[in-house]
Amino acid sequence: MSENIEKQAAPAIKLPPYKLASRATHPDDSVVPLGQSAVGGQEFIVMAGPCSVEADPQMLGTAWDVKMAGAHMIRGGAFKPRSSPYSFQGLAEEGLKMLAKARELTGLPIVTEVMDSTDVDLVESYADVLQVGARNAQNFSLLKRLGQCRKPILLKRGLMNTVDEFLCSAEYLLAGGNENVILCERGIRTFDNSTRNTLDLSAVLTIKERSHLPVIVDPSHASGKANYVAPLSKAALAVGADGLMIEVHCNPQAALCDGEESLNPVEFQILMRELAELAPHFGRAVSTVSSSANQAVPQ
Ligand code: PEP
Ligand code: MN
Repeated sequence: MSENIEKQAAPAIKLPPYKLASRATHPDDSVVPLGQSAVGGQEFIVMAGPCSVEADPQMLGTAWDVKMAGAHMIRGGAFKPRSSPYSFQGLAEEGLKMLAKARELTGLPIVTEVMDSTDVDLVESYADVLQVGARNAQNFSLLKRLGQCRKPILLKRGLMNTVDEFLCSAEYLLAGGNENVILCERGIRTFDNSTRNTLDLSAVLTIKERSHLPVIVDPSHASGKANYVAPLSKAALAVGADGLMIEVHCNPQAALCDGEESLNPVEFQILMRELAELAPHFGRAVSTVSSSANQAVPQ
């Protein structure tokens, strides 16, 4: 009898299937620490670098350029998910070593993709943040494995995933015990093929409403066009994203992957200045002055 009364007195709150990711269980925004900065706080965070790590001079030169323009983090893929098995697949551990050198040179943390559960230990030993690519957003065994990882995870939205499915994928990481999860809207596949994908900016609003997790936008893979990257980046800032992931290459015409959507260093520097000017209008800050360059410009 008393048990029945208790049940009536405390009506159960209906939680979504992503309860740990939901605002209902965690009303405040989560902030994920990233070296000297953090994603999800007032600072608008920019991760930049080439699609793929190709060689020392390309990786180190680009890393230096993005650092000098004010990027907070270096990106670069060493394990590449390519549609064709004949396309460049990435340099694997050799590429991870180049990323580690880029971190040493710039003092910036590095984010790189892990495609397979069997590579998690290796990638974790080099990366500051492990990226789950769009094609692996519902690879549940990989997500379970990464839940046990103690480094932050950048989870990209799957090409065909609803926002709720995306949050359920994040839930696998949280349920495994990894609280440091950053979401990335990178465009979805729609009937329209005028851009590489369709950037779903309203997903940023929906995610912010339903979840406490920080969310960044990748305008490079979303559009597939370098000249769309700056306007979409500004739109992402305006809509309330916590940052960006942008492809930058020291020589986009020569890139082994995604050159057509990559900014060159000058274009990136201009964009960073524009974002720094705009950010205060949206209650954010973007620092463009690099403060802790460790060494001289690489030759
Ligand atoms: C990437 O960021 O390198 C990448 C492959 O992107 P996505 O998984 O979003 O296609
Ligand atoms: Mn790419």
